[in-house]
Amino acid sequence: MDALMAVIDQIQADRITFAASGNVSVRDPRHPDRFWITPSGVAWPHITYDDLVALSVETGTVLDGRLKPSTEWRFHRTLYARHDWIGGVVHLHSRYATIFSTLGEPIKPVHYQMARVAYQVPVVPYETYGTPALAEAVGTVIDKDCQAALLANHGLVAVGDTVAKAYQYAQEIEWMADIYYHARLLGTPRILTVEEIEKVRDQFAQYGQTP
Ligand code: 13P
Ligand code: ZN
Repeated sequence: MDALMAVIDQIQADRITFAASGNVSVRDPRHPDRFWITPSGVAWPHITYDDLVALSVETGTVLDGRLKPSTEWRFHRTLYARHDWIGGVVHLHSRYATIFSTLGEPIKPVHYQMARVAYQVPVVPYETYGTPALAEAVGTVIDKDCQAALLANHGLVAVGDTVAKAYQYAQEIEWMADIYYHARLLGTPRILTVEEIEKVRDQFAQYGQTP
């Protein structure tokens, strides 16, 4: 579960969330029918390899580990069960994404980087943390065209085909929420159109050092 530990280390280094808020998980590459998740209530700097907990994607039963899994194991499980391309899930109470979640406002595409994740980041209606109702609400919104969502009055969820990608998307959304928040203090930011975002999405297919 090195990829998961690497993301846990990066979350601490970035100070993007605090104390025990948020949780992350990875699908087991050798057993795709199970996933490993952070333990409940353990602050990020104290999480070690031995604290991770393995659960069944199908039933949510604990298969390995000595601690209680994150209280949000239900929405992580729902996402792995509904989408076999999902390899990692990241949930943060990061500052700017959480501000928009309290307003019940989606993060609009004010920057072209949004094209990697969605047209805009929608808000999942409020449900108590850890509940089957929250898992169902998250499961309804996330798909290939919408790889991140805000949880009303709570925080942010992002997914990816790897946990590193899910964390990269979470960072990008948090950065865009920061830009959107500050732009709105100064004026009215222009929102990119669906066509503009689609063009960027097409161009991203060729972006970087593709072989
Ligand atoms: P856990 O410590 O149980 O993962 O809970 C933190 C959290 O963010 C709940 O939504
Ligand atoms: Zn949370």
